Amino acid sequence: MIIEDRYNRQELIKGWDQSKLHKTRAVVIGAGTLANFTLASLACLGVGNIEIYDNSLTQSGDSLRGEFLLSESGIGSPKSLELEKRLKQINPSLRVKGVNLKLSGPLLAIVGNPDFIIDTTNNPLSKKDFILYAKSKQIKFISASADFGRVEFYFSNGKYFKDSLLTDYSSKLQSVSLCSLIGGMISEELRKSVMPLDNNDIPVNHIAYTLLSEERFSNKKEYEIVKPDLKNKKALIVGCGALGNFCSLLSSLEGIGSIDLMDPDVVESTNLNRQILFYRSVGKPKAIALEEEIKMITPSVNTRAIKDKLDENSKYFDENTPDIIFDCVDNMASRAIINYYSVRNKIPLVSAGTGPRSGQVIVYIPGKTECLECKLGVEKSLSEQRKSNSCLHTSDPSVIMTNQITASMQVLEGIKVLSDSYGDPLKSVLKYDSQIPIRGGYVGTDGICACEKPDIQSWLKEVDSKSQSA
Ligand SMILES: [Zn+2]
Repeated sequence: MIIEDRYNRQELIKGWDQSKLHKTRAVVIGAGTLANFTLASLACLGVGNIEIYDNSLTQSGDSLRGEFLLSESGIGSPKSLELEKRLKQINPSLRVKGVNLKLSGPLLAIVGNPDFIIDTTNNPLSKKDFILYAKSKQIKFISASADFGRVEFYFSNGKYFKDSLLTDYSSKLQSVSLCSLIGGMISEELRKSVMPLDNNDIPVNHIAYTLLSEERFSNKKEYEIVKPDLKNKKALIVGCGALGNFCSLLSSLEGIGSIDLMDPDVVESTNLNRQILFYRSVGKPKAIALEEEIKMITPSVNTRAIKDKLDENSKYFDENTPDIIFDCVDNMASRAIINYYSVRNKIPLVSAGTGPRSGQVIVYIPGKTECLECKLGVEKSLSEQRKSNSCLHTSDPSVIMTNQITASMQVLEGIKVLSDSYGDPLKSVLKYDSQIPIRGGYVGTDGICACEKPDIQSWLKEVDSKSQSA
């Protein structure tokens, strides 16, 4: 089944030309965690011709290591062929080919002349062969690697970097959330190369990201890697759209033991360009569809679907005390409600928001950082919505890349909150911005607030009276 309107939300972006992406041919080397998150991203985006070269076989526990596209594959079959099957399900309009072969030396010639070669392995020898080949044919080469604390990639476009061997990462295991983050970044830089949206929309040569330094967009290492045990932690994810898809996938793969998924909406075909786990769920309630997919990938995680909206009538917090709330909604009025419950119940909140080319993450820990009202003034939007008594549903442009990147940053900050490792909590706004050369950093103040909230009816009266006096 080919769904014609799957690209509607990205085609709303000025200058977007899906046919350029559809003609693009990308060769992906490797089938590990980083390959899974890169391939899923390219498939949703609609890169028309994807080939996967790898000679490893599926084993038990692949999906738990972050190879989530292999969750329904049996044991002992070639990963490249299993990935081909899954990508064809995710986006049936693509030409996908898996090749069960390890390429080296003269064999490399069988890849021919693709537009991109993307090496997702932590193998400098593989990367070396491909750099030489790409250089000889002037093929754009993306080299990416990850370990448990850092992730990094080089984009070679005519100039081929020696550092892109990424020898630091040789043979190390790849972190799930960091791989997801860099997978989204690879898609975005590839998109820039194929289809620049303006004159300044050009690929970057190098990006690194880490949880081991305060800087985040860096390959510095200031802290030691801590792999926290999150089995006894419980998360509430509010919003099961694009952010919620990645947030729940990553939270479960990172080992959070219990996850409640809350969303009142139903999956639509225009969601499929970015809501990575919904390719077989059009028409189903989002919370239920997401729970089914998460259960398939990480059966031991205790998930619960709540097909409901978080509002003033919600009884959720009377009955539940999650350790963390992930805000994955797409509007400020809903964010004001989430912020209310978080402040009122003194529960840490990690909020994420995206646009077509940027995203941001805010961490609220009661008594340690600022809440969303102090940071963003979210209650004004709620009062406006209540005054107009409408819930206007507009179709904003949206892509997979910023959602994937931002949700990955969100879950990484969530791990930091839950494990109390890797330095102080994030106090200012952590931003990804595809339009600035370093692609991200911190913005805004780094204050602390001492907000408290009364019962919900009194608070709503306050919110309403604020709008009348304004
Ligand atoms: Zn506050």
